[in-house]
Amino acid sequence: MSEWVELAGNMHMHTPYSDGEKWHADIARDAIQSGLDFIIVTDHNVWVDGIEGYYENGNGRVLLLSGEEVHNPRRQPQASHFLAYGAERELAPFAHDPQQLINQTNANGGCGFLAHPHEGDPEPLLDLPNLGWHDWEIDNFTGLELWNYMSSFADIVKEHARRLPIQNKLLAKLVALRLALHPEKYIIGPNPQTLAFWDELLAQGKQIAVVGNSDAHGTPMNLGPIHRIIYPYEFCFRAINTHILIPKLLNGDLARDKKMILDAISKGNSWVGYDMAYPTKGFRFSGQGVNKGIIGDKIQLDAGATLQVRASTRANIRLIRHGEVVAQIENETHLTHIPVEEGAYRAECTIQYEGKERGWIYSNPIYLW
Ligand SMILES: [Zn+2]
Ligand SMILES: [Zn+2]
Repeated sequence: MSEWVELAGNMHMHTPYSDGEKWHADIARDAIQSGLDFIIVTDHNVWVDGIEGYYENGNGRVLLLSGEEVHNPRRQPQASHFLAYGAERELAPFAHDPQQLINQTNANGGCGFLAHPHEGDPEPLLDLPNLGWHDWEIDNFTGLELWNYMSSFADIVKEHARRLPIQNKLLAKLVALRLALHPEKYIIGPNPQTLAFWDELLAQGKQIAVVGNSDAHGTPMNLGPIHRIIYPYEFCFRAINTHILIPKLLNGDLARDKKMILDAISKGNSWVGYDMAYPTKGFRFSGQGVNKGIIGDKIQLDAGATLQVRASTRANIRLIRHGEVVAQIENETHLTHIPVEEGAYRAECTIQYEGKERGWIYSNPIYLW
């Protein structure tokens, strides 16, 4: 089997077409600066045509693709945001009916993920809503946005604001600002409810891919004389990313390169990495049974089957099947396991960072059958 090519990308961000601050070319520059290979811009309820392609400068190049984050704007309070990639058309007209939205995304050759599916309760002092997914009677979506950086941050702010001795707007804002100065101290991992929900779907025999994203807006926060961007695109692109494995090097042919990237995302040949804690580049999860496979693949189980995890630095590595840890090792770079049962196996790594054990890598499953 040829060597797979790893690309790092971010697939959830906004421009002034909706509520972001920077335009595509500037975001592309930030992505190059952060070392990303591709980005997918997902403005709210607008699929922006004509901006896809390679953006380059003296520091490198990045492939910019156009996706969309769709929600029903008439709904109050707002909920159920959906990320669509590769559908090549405006999907906002289907926003009122989540199942129709999913079906239309699929019918147009795209794939779709429930964005930040679980969020904390609304925080009125700071006007922070719960934008989680609320329409659970759905099927046939590609996967879940397992870890969304801005959503994780908002949940931490909500938690701290709720614990204040007095419920005061200014005090809550000061707390938010304090947290915003050192987010890495507070970010621990994906929302546990989303992790549990994913394991539940996998246990039901479904193939569900996950992605991890920034949801960068570059929004300024103003508090009297204090003005701070929460958070710059570049900062976000160094935090939670999705790393994918594709069969061949990108060659600059937009249609070809785009297809490889979208295939990897929809099949889950990828992992979610908290690159700020330590670069996740070089992580691998592979399996050998009757056939060989990488993350996201289906492998036929036989007596000699093995699963192997390799991390780019020492970490606590766990192999999880349908919510249960089937193998684990501490402070190591490799884990090998001989599976005896069918099912979806996913690898998870945690690492010491900023004085605490943090979620670091969440791989998509290898499916044994
Ligand atoms: Zn959203
Ligand atoms: Zn968003």
